[in-house]
Amino acid sequence: MSRNKKIVIITVSALASVLILAAVLGLVFSRLEFSVDKSGTQTVEVFDSYSSSSPKAYVRVLGLKFPVSCESKGEIDTNKTGEYTLDYTASFLWKTLKQSGVVKVVDTKAPTIELEDYNFNFEYTSAPPTADDISVKFTASDNYDGDITDSVVKTVVDNICYFTVLDSSGNEATAEVNIIYTDGMRPTISLMGDTTMYLAAGNPYYEPGYSAKDNIEGDITAAVKVSGAPDITKSGIYLIEYTVTDTAGNSARVTRRVVVYGTSDPSDFQTVAPNGKTVYLTFDDGPGIYTEKLLTYLRKYDIKATFFVTNQFSKYQNLIKTAYNDGHTIGVHTYSHNIYRQSNNIYASVDAFMADFNAMQEVIKAQTGSYSKIFRFPGGTNNTISRKYCGGIMTALSEKLTAEGYYYFDWNCDCMDTSSAKTADAVIKNTLDQISKKTNSVVLMHDIKGYTVEAIPAIIEVGLRRGYTFKALDENSPVVRYKPQN
Ligand SMILES: [Zn+2]
Repeated sequence: MSRNKKIVIITVSALASVLILAAVLGLVFSRLEFSVDKSGTQTVEVFDSYSSSSPKAYVRVLGLKFPVSCESKGEIDTNKTGEYTLDYTASFLWKTLKQSGVVKVVDTKAPTIELEDYNFNFEYTSAPPTADDISVKFTASDNYDGDITDSVVKTVVDNICYFTVLDSSGNEATAEVNIIYTDGMRPTISLMGDTTMYLAAGNPYYEPGYSAKDNIEGDITAAVKVSGAPDITKSGIYLIEYTVTDTAGNSARVTRRVVVYGTSDPSDFQTVAPNGKTVYLTFDDGPGIYTEKLLTYLRKYDIKATFFVTNQFSKYQNLIKTAYNDGHTIGVHTYSHNIYRQSNNIYASVDAFMADFNAMQEVIKAQTGSYSKIFRFPGGTNNTISRKYCGGIMTALSEKLTAEGYYYFDWNCDCMDTSSAKTADAVIKNTLDQISKKTNSVVLMHDIKGYTVEAIPAIIEVGLRRGYTFKALDENSPVVRYKPQN
């Protein structure tokens, strides 16, 4: 071997060793790396597609990049919210490199609420509506949870009802319904002092005061209008009228009577002031030709009375409505008032009576909107004429109607306008005599008699000056009844 050859071999060997050493060192110091950093947390919207491809991995050797395999572990279900962990492992020879990342599948989409209506009318009475009162139909749905109608919460704040719902991821939806307050209620006016005041002539009249309240607007005293003033120089009965109207147009009216007494006029009555006596004026057999006049008299003094109505004069039926609207009590008397003739007599049987009674109830309902609980038997409970047609019928009827929740009234004062009294003066005298002797007077009168109607102003004027209170009958009035005699 030549010397040159040796040199070549040694040189080649040395170079090869250097190369091998370099390769070994290169491998020893090689570095694995991922092309993409997938550590940390990524989010993906539920139901969106997500490709969970592994990152590419490389190994760097002596400044050169060579791809290496990368394994990934873990799965993601994008149809289900939650946190998923993925582990990536790259390996090269004895070296491994791990990376793990979290993928959150989230629902960030808000649910939706569907309302049947955006406005709700609420008839305001005494209190604002609660959430339960708002009966607008609704549904709520969510892209992830589906139907979540049952989770909707309603809250009323002032005049808005808020509908809110949260889906299982806490996304909120709200919807609003406007509450429109409808007001069909009248305001109320309260009078301070007495509603019937007694004033000796010549003394000044001072308004005792009043207040008005509305269900929605609250105190509306300032809107009250007062009209009328007593003439303190002249004895008489004066009506002071208080009216108020709320913004919805409901109005209220109350009156105060001022009885001025004690002038030098010798015919004047001296009052005895309120004395606890109550007079119930009751008018049978109408409405008829004089009823309208009677209503104007009662209105003049703002006196409430009771009408036991019939259908004998059917063209005056509408006055039942007028009387009712004026605040009088409407009671059943009879449709036909036939208690004297044999044919179709109302006392011929219980059925015959009830047919007549119910026919009158229908007339009352048509005029007033409701049936009446109050009635008076034609001829009174103690009539004996019914014996001619049916034995025991008054006993049977009084028991039956009481059991059915009706209240019947007879009378304890009779103005005698269907017997001896044929003039207004006679009716006045009979009535005033009788009511002076009782604490509670239920006065039998007939508004189909002109002289009875003409007696009313004097009876009221004298009655008020004597300190009587006039009232309409109702279910709580004193029971004034005769025992059945048949
Ligand atoms: Zn009658």
